[in-house]
Amino acid sequence: MAILSPRRGRGTNADKPTHARGARRRALGADAVRARVEAVPDTARFLVVLDADSTLIRNEVIELLADEAGRGPEVAAATEAAMRGEVDFAASLRSRVHALAGVSTDAFARAIARIEPTPGVRELISAVRERGGAVGVVSGGFHEVLDVVAPDLGVDVWRANRLVAAEGVLTGEVEGPIVDATAKAETLRAWAEERGVPLHLTVAIGDGANDLEMMAVAGLGLAFNAKPAVRERADLVVGPVDLAQVVALLPR
Ligand SMILES: [Mg+2]
Repeated sequence: MAILSPRRGRGTNADKPTHARGARRRALGADAVRARVEAVPDTARFLVVLDADSTLIRNEVIELLADEAGRGPEVAAATEAAMRGEVDFAASLRSRVHALAGVSTDAFARAIARIEPTPGVRELISAVRERGGAVGVVSGGFHEVLDVVAPDLGVDVWRANRLVAAEGVLTGEVEGPIVDATAKAETLRAWAEERGVPLHLTVAIGDGANDLEMMAVAGLGLAFNAKPAVRERADLVVGPVDLAQVVALLPR
């Protein structure tokens, strides 16, 4: 696949301030002043926020990691139930991450090598940026993978969960609060406010039940490659698994 260079540091998690590509960089002399200016994202005309697993990419990363523990099918079934909205997302994630205990952190590179970006994702992201918009990704998945995938695809800002590791091995725990449905919606609101984008000029795109809150908050909530419960509650359903279909719905 086309994911190449690990570049870190632009992503965010639950307890860190947000940063963004395109932060204004000027020759300011004092480091303190430069740091303060860089923390302010550029304004944007509109904001598109995507879910990661099965939306930005075709895969569910937790399943790729669970394969390393020989527990892929079991974790895939639990993920499917969570995405259909049949179980509490945070409790389900903690239980699925527990299945990853003992997996080497080397598994991240192998998972990244198996990731397939969703067809049309690069077309969508370049169209958003050409029109002065910003692209965010908020995920119930993991920073360890998104920190490589998101910048490669041109995403401006991202947020996900972090896995706890000790001595190069996953402990089976998630660090800090879980990025669940409510956190996804709060993140969309915060990114919009930081960029001066009114909520009616935001678009949320997702496939799972944990995307419904951010889809409800956004000006336009798009079900993409989505479960029936998500399709029923979305403003619009994008049928083909092709993110380029969304370009026609963007502000001009
Ligand atoms: Mg998803």
